[in-house]
Amino acid sequence: MSTPLHAPDLAAPASQPWSADQDETLRCVQIRKETVDVKTFILAAKGPRSFRYLPGQFITLELQINGRSVNRCYTLSSTPTRPDLVSITVKRVPGGVVSNWLHEHLRVGMDLGAMGPSGDFSCFKAPAQRYLFLSGGSGVTPLMSMTRALHDLGSDADIVFVHCAQPCRCAVPGRAEPDGAQHDTTAAGHRV
Ligand SMILES: Cc1cc2nc3c(=O)[nH]c(=O)nc-3n(C[C@H](O)[C@H](O)[C@H](O)COP(=O)(O)OP(=O)(O)OC[C@H]3O[C@@H](n4cnc5c(N)ncnc54)[C@H](O)[C@@H]3O)c2cc1C
Repeated sequence: MSTPLHAPDLAAPASQPWSADQDETLRCVQIRKETVDVKTFILAAKGPRSFRYLPGQFITLELQINGRSVNRCYTLSSTPTRPDLVSITVKRVPGGVVSNWLHEHLRVGMDLGAMGPSGDFSCFKAPAQRYLFLSGGSGVTPLMSMTRALHDLGSDADIVFVHCAQPCRCAVPGRAEPDGAQHDTTAAGHRV
């Protein structure tokens, strides 16, 4: 059965800013398997919303799992330059409550409670002409967002992106490259 298209009202007036104090219901509209233990969950607002946040910021999921409330932070791996949807990219943690629940139980069409974006870790707070992005494992997600945003904005910043991952599980940084970044004349990404 095909999934109904998520169709936001693209002509609607801009919505209120998305705030860290604000509870929001997000609907899962797509799930991508990135590696054996990493999935990206694409999330949409239920009502009209244009998501505004700094690349590198995180949201806090508020879940009920086995009758208990649990909160976990996940960085937005999406870019605010594409504001109709957000995504989180979650690595399974052995024995972990939330990461495994998301991998095993979250399905397209399900809703999640979340608090809006927080955090100061963003290169957009300290603009520069050259960036050295260093990450390991699931720590790649804020840098994915920053790289995608710089690319979408036509930045000519020179970015060196060094990522460490377990052998054979390293598909995440490949996905992190903005579409066409290797061939593009704007934001320059180097594979090291
Ligand atoms: C700002 C921020 C951004 C983040 N962004 C991302 C992201 O983009 N992607 C991502 O994948 N993760 C991210 N994380 C990590 C994420 O928030 C979770 O910590 C992670 O998914 C693990 O949560 P969990 O519920 O699966 O594991 P938990 O249930 O919290 O368990 C973690 C580990 O502790 C062990 N454990 C739990 N309880 C006990 C106990 N009583 N005794 C001994 N061991 C125990 C578990 O077995 C497991 O190995 C981020 C964290 C922060 C703070």
